[in-house]
Amino acid sequence: MSDWLRDALLKEQNERVAIKAERLRKATPEPPKKEEPSYNPNLKDCEVCGKQMAKGARTCPHCGKTYTTSGGIFLAILIGLAIGGCFMARR
Ligand SMILES: [Zn+2]
Repeated sequence: MSDWLRDALLKEQNERVAIKAERLRKATPEPPKKEEPSYNPNLKDCEVCGKQMAKGARTCPHCGKTYTTSGGIFLAILIGLAIGGCFMARR
């Protein structure tokens, strides 16, 4: 086999591999590295692992951290403030 033919064959093979790799890469898109593509009001960051979990969840689905229901009290205060604010604004 002459050198130029071998080179040509190698080149063609490399190109085919590159095309195959490119197709494979397009077929399987990389998962987003950041797990926070957009802000979701129903999600919050876990205090322990930092991953997103449902606001209402009592345990983190990622690390198993348990949360007390102090969020309910916070929500009650917020609602109270909102109602109070409306009441004040009407006067
Ligand atoms: Zn967690």
